[in-house]
Amino acid sequence: MPDIPEDSALLRMEVAGICGTDVKLYKTPPSSTPVIMGHENIGTIARAGREFTRRKGFKEGDLVFVEHYVMCGKCEWCHLGEYRHCENTDWRHNPDAIRYGYTSAEKAPHLWGGFAQYVYLPWNAVVHRVPKGVTPELAGLVTPMANGVEWSLFDGGVGYDSSVLIQGPGQQGLSQTVICKQAGASLIIVTGTSRDRARMQVAKDLGADHVIDVQKEDPLARINEITGGKGVDVVLDCTAGAGATPVLLGVDALKRKG
Ligand SMILES: [Zn+2]
Ligand SMILES: [Zn+2]
Repeated sequence: MPDIPEDSALLRMEVAGICGTDVKLYKTPPSSTPVIMGHENIGTIARAGREFTRRKGFKEGDLVFVEHYVMCGKCEWCHLGEYRHCENTDWRHNPDAIRYGYTSAEKAPHLWGGFAQYVYLPWNAVVHRVPKGVTPELAGLVTPMANGVEWSLFDGGVGYDSSVLIQGPGQQGLSQTVICKQAGASLIIVTGTSRDRARMQVAKDLGADHVIDVQKEDPLARINEITGGKGVDVVLDCTAGAGATPVLLGVDALKRKG
């Protein structure tokens, strides 16, 4: 284990989620420098500097989730709480940026990715406690689930009695399904392709009222039939590589003012 300064900590990895981005970056690396990938990280604090514990309240043995954005804490975005836009985490444009799973392993102290035994936590890492009784495996779903909360509840305004069309039954689409159901949506329609048959069943198990195979049925006709021609309140596009088709279907499937 490397030595760490008083205001930092070391995380022993328990679970690292594999994101769609990981697959893309592994296939086509954006640079030739070595990178330890893995940005959906759950682990146990293995060593914590005294100052780290004093400032952040975490001590050795705590099970935590670490956000992949490492913010500066000083800029306009950070002060707005929108630290995902902070320049300190913009690895594409700022060579000094730190983002777990993306930052070059050449940058000291090198441990910037979750596909490893240990991850370095500087003073400005954003760390959350995993609630008691939640296993590391379950906690590992936090990133797609948080996307579910953000996209459907915050951005889409899904709530009690909402009708929702979720396009794409991948991990993001399934997370939206769970969150929309929990938020009280009264109608959840999930679309997918014939290849998604197993995932469509999972969508149903998680609360989808209808699933539509867009290769076998005309999705718009089915949505009109289900909603009595009214359309849905909210459309969430969770497809990948489907081009503009889901966007156009989304516009057509929306209710007035949806
Ligand atoms: Zn990701
Ligand atoms: Zn900042």
